[in-house]
This record gives sequence, C-alpha cells and structure tokens, in this order.
Amino acid sequence: MPWIDEDKCIGCEVCLEKCPVGAILMENDKAKINMDKCIRCGTCHDVCKLEAVRHDGEKIPEQVKINVETTKEFMKACAKYLGNDNEKWKCLERMKKHFNKEKIIAEKTLTQLEMLKKV
Ligand code: SF4
Ligand code: SF4
Repeated sequence: MPWIDEDKCIGCEVCLEKCPVGAILMENDKAKINMDKCIRCGTCHDVCKLEAVRHDGEKIPEQVKINVETTKEFMKACAKYLGNDNEKWKCLERMKKHFNKEKIIAEKTLTQLEMLKKV
C-alpha cells in the first residue's frame, strides 16, 4: 500500500491529478492518501518524480518494532494490573498466538490470491 514520505514531497500535485479515484488530497502542501478510497493501482508511484510515494514494505522494520514495543507494554500492564509478575509471561504467549494467527491469515490469503490467477 502506498504512503507519502513528507520529507520528499514538494506538493506539486501531479499524483493528485493522476489518481484515477481522487484518493489523494493536499494537507499543508503535502500529498496525503485516503486509504479508504485508494484502489492500489500504483499510478502515484509511477508519476512522482521525487520518489515521495513509497512502498509498504519499507515500513516492515518499523512495524516489527511497534509490535515488540506494544507487546512489552501489555506484558508490563498484565503484571501490574493482575498483581503477579508471572502474568507477563502468559501475556507474552497470548501475543505470540495473536501474531501467529496473523501469519496464518496472511499465508492462507496468499495461497488464495495465487489461485485467482487460475480463475
Ligand atoms: S507527485 Fe510526488 S512530490 Fe508531487 S505531490 Fe505527489 S507525492 Fe508530492
Ligand atoms: S495507488 Fe492509485 S488509487 Fe491509490 S492513491 Fe495511488 S494513484 Fe490513487
């Protein structure tokens, strides 16, 4: 999914003009994508000469860090609010289950997306 690197965007509005569904707006002279409207067509990537429209994959390290930090916060909170330090380990296991479920959803989705090629 596309996102805008505001440090690179100069607000030229080319992407806004070319977006086929009007999913891009300007906010403080920077492009912003309304993901509810975006159809993931990739046009904005192609037309931005400054490479300000970035790919989702670049956010993987950031997202992993957020997930780990969130888990640490939940672990701390479980230990605190349940009054037992051991609760943090149970919390950790629950979070591992949660992310494992996300992984399974992604894997099964990818399998079904591959099958779309045969339709
Ligand atoms: S084309 Fe690139 S630089 Fe121009 S507004 Fe869109 S993202 Fe910003
Ligand atoms: S990917 Fe396509 S629909 Fe989405 S914001 Fe870019 S140009 Fe618009």
